[in-house]
Parts: sequence; structure tokens; C-alpha cells
Amino acid sequence: MDQCTAFVLLSPPRHLTALLADPEPAYVLCELGEGHAADHGTLLWDLDGESGGVWARWNERRTRLAPFAWCPEVDDEGDACELFAEHSSGHSWDVVDPTRAALWELARRGHPHLFPEGGAPGA
Ligand SMILES: [Zn+2]
Ligand SMILES: [Zn+2]
Repeated sequence: MDQCTAFVLLSPPRHLTALLADPEPAYVLCELGEGHAADHGTLLWDLDGESGGVWARWNERRTRLAPFAWCPEVDDEGDACELFAEHSSGHSWDVVDPTRAALWELARRGHPHLFPEGGAPGA
């Protein structure tokens, strides 16, 4: 499934601006699959690699930052889902950023020697 196209301009919380190297507002893009239920979401930072991360979750009325545990699912190759637990759409391996996919296709056509098996380099 394609990635959701929602985005939001996110301003760093006032209590964090002193800790950030670049505390300017920035756009963040939803990482969930299109047509998902509930709020949009994007990972802001990983808490420790094990327990979860801090996510921006937003809808038409508000944006909030909150910690969420990782989704416990793994794919057939043992790679963990990169979304939060109980997300509503497909797992991260099912979500395709169409812009990134188009860029990979252009790269594959222009530099086929980098894609010996037709996949993405390093994949
Ligand atoms: Zn979304
Ligand atoms: Zn998942």
C-alpha cells in the first residue's frame, strides 16, 4: 500500500528548543499506510531501540507528541515493523513511499549494474 500523504508543520516544544541544534519548525510526513484509521503519525526519535519511540500524532484539530511502544510484528526475514504498537494500517514493510519507489526505479534503469537482482541496493 502507498504511504499516507498527510503532513504537518511541527514546532519543537518550548521545553526542548534549548536542547536542539536546529529548533526551527519543520514539516513531517505521516509514515502510516494510506487510508489508516485514527491520527496520523511520524517517528521523531527512538527512545532506546528496545521500548519504543516518541511519535508526533496529529489530526485536523491537534498535534501531540507521545511515546509509543514498537509494533511487535516481524516480517518473514525477521525484520521488525518500524511503526508503533497497535497502528491501524499495514506494517512498515507493506507501506511504500511512492516518491522513493519512483526514484529507485529511475536509479535502477539508469544504473542497472547497481541492482544485480532487481532490488534496491543493500536490500
Ligand atoms: Zn496518515
Ligand atoms: Zn506493525
